[in-house]
Amino acid sequence: MSQPLTPAQRDELKALLLKRREELQLEMQQNRKNLTPPTSDEGGMVQRNVAREVDQTLTDLDSADITRIDRALKAMADGSYGQCSACGCDIPFERLQVEPQTEHCVACKGSWEKVSGQV
Ligand SMILES: [Zn+2]
Repeated sequence: MSQPLTPAQRDELKALLLKRREELQLEMQQNRKNLTPPTSDEGGMVQRNVAREVDQTLTDLDSADITRIDRALKAMADGSYGQCSACGCDIPFERLQVEPQTEHCVACKGSWEKVSGQV
């Protein structure tokens, strides 16, 4: 059994979450800038559209991450942070350090990945 987080550990993870959120927001701003085409010639347009789609996908991924971070910060405020949303166990601090926005313990995430076929 793992231990619930100490207040110091929680503070550390909160700082990590806030930092990551800031980085993602900067990245998204950067991506948005890339979405503006600089010239209008035909050949370049196709290439830019491809780049646009990639940027859009990245932006979607980033915004999904920000949503998870926001959820984690909210859970921190109401005291439910650090608990697996599937089995209710305390997620080990070491795992939260690597992925502070996670909502599942390794066991639950592992079985979910097996079911959904994702790695
Ligand atoms: Zn679990």
